[in-house]
Amino acid sequence: MKTAEIAQRYLDYFEKNDHVIVPSASLVTDDPSLLFTVAGMVPFIPYLTGVVPAPYARAADVQKCIRTNDIEEVGKTARHGTFFQMLGNWSFGDYFKAGAIEYAWELLTSSESAGGLGFAERDLWVTVYEDDDEAADLWKRIAGLPDERIQRFGKEDNYWSTGQPGPAGPCSEIYFDRGPAYGPDGGPAVDDSRFTEIWNLVFMQYAITNVRSKTDFDVIGELPQKNIDTGMGLERVAFIKQGVDNMYETDQVRPVLDLAVALSGRTYGAVHDDDVRFRVVADHVRSSLMLLSDGVRPSNEGRGYILRRLMRRTVRAMRLLGVDAPTFRELFAASRDAMAPAYPILATDYDRLESAAVAEEETFLRTLAAGSTILDLAVAETKGAGKDQIAGSEAFLLHDTYGFPIDLTLEIAEEAGLSVDRTAFDALMQEQRQRAKADAKSRKRAIADHSVYREFRALGETTFTGYTDLETESRIL
Ligand code: ATP
Ligand code: MG
Ligand code: MG
Ligand code: MG
Repeated sequence: MKTAEIAQRYLDYFEKNDHVIVPSASLVTDDPSLLFTVAGMVPFIPYLTGVVPAPYARAADVQKCIRTNDIEEVGKTARHGTFFQMLGNWSFGDYFKAGAIEYAWELLTSSESAGGLGFAERDLWVTVYEDDDEAADLWKRIAGLPDERIQRFGKEDNYWSTGQPGPAGPCSEIYFDRGPAYGPDGGPAVDDSRFTEIWNLVFMQYAITNVRSKTDFDVIGELPQKNIDTGMGLERVAFIKQGVDNMYETDQVRPVLDLAVALSGRTYGAVHDDDVRFRVVADHVRSSLMLLSDGVRPSNEGRGYILRRLMRRTVRAMRLLGVDAPTFRELFAASRDAMAPAYPILATDYDRLESAAVAEEETFLRTLAAGSTILDLAVAETKGAGKDQIAGSEAFLLHDTYGFPIDLTLEIAEEAGLSVDRTAFDALMQEQRQRAKADAKSRKRAIADHSVYREFRALGETTFTGYTDLETESRIL
């Protein structure tokens, strides 16, 4: 079953059940405190919090998402993409727990010929919040699940809130058992790789206040209007339904992976580290393409920095796969071909996206050429001196003079079994900032043409402003 067909089945099912089908919102949010749409619920926040009355009682959609906090998992787990699509159904004061569970179970387990997704009941496990007896009973009644396949998790995993006073509530999640080849038996409480989370049902049931942390707050009482927010990973369902090993091997991603393999002249499935890199390339190229398409351009801060980082990690992965030549022209075209059937704008708007991607690759290849030699030397010197930490001053020099990003220095150092004196590096960065401030003051009337300087800084500046995003991400998730 192709990815697009799964999405269509999902929408058809909920449309048949009186949901209004809503188009995906942009990856770029209106909310300045949140860089990207990290979940299907993001565009619905005003309705869910009751700030704006929902224009419909039921809705369903396929939402484009970016999660930078999963970047380190990409290619290592089977299930984490920086870009993915979340299938969602919503009830604003309409159906609640029973309805959400009935719909989810019916769609998952009804046969493909009946329009369902055709999952075998025996492969599905669920979790509920530890105190949510109501949900556990519903799973028994509606799905006939035995007690041992209904696991109870605490607030950390199965309770949703925004981290602010307002709506909150327990979740219930559905997991697919990939079988003994992927790990020990015993459900998601034992192994979250064999048991892959596919669908999260959030029951917005309570109003909370005095929020001390995500798991520590006071419940005021039941909400007058209870809402349902669900999210199912399209790529996760796709990789299961397509019988492949992971989400990077699904029809919308695999063509890029295959091309990366061909360009490298290596084989997929031979060396673990190479496989991770192939998957990283396939993931990051797609994420970059989708971000470009939503108007993001590589830069040194905010959203642009995340995009730059994805692209640079792609270049770096290709280099580690033995390819020093530019590859973006080909890789991005492959991703466009795989994604354009679902997002036609990718084809019509492609020239602009391609030139932005190719320009970023060129810039970074120049930066890398200058910095790599210096860093290799620093690694050799550090090791030669019997040390296991690269001096902060070396990392700073690389950053300041060669425009070599600190995260890359950290990565390369780690691969060489070394750490970097981060404290010293940060101190030098701080000093530099102060110097720059003082300079600016003493040059009040400076009118020199700074364009060359700016261009140089553009290569060098690596201020990672993504952390505020990560904080907000974890608040929402
Ligand atoms: P996990 O525990 O596997 O990281 P999650 O609990 O962070 O998933 P939710 O926030 O509950 O995920 O999101 C709802 C659904 O979206 C998940 O059940 C999953 O199917 C999908 N999903 C979440 N993160 C990703 C990702 N990085 N790549 C692909 N699908 C994802
Ligand atoms: Mg997660
Ligand atoms: Mg989870
Ligand atoms: Mg979850």
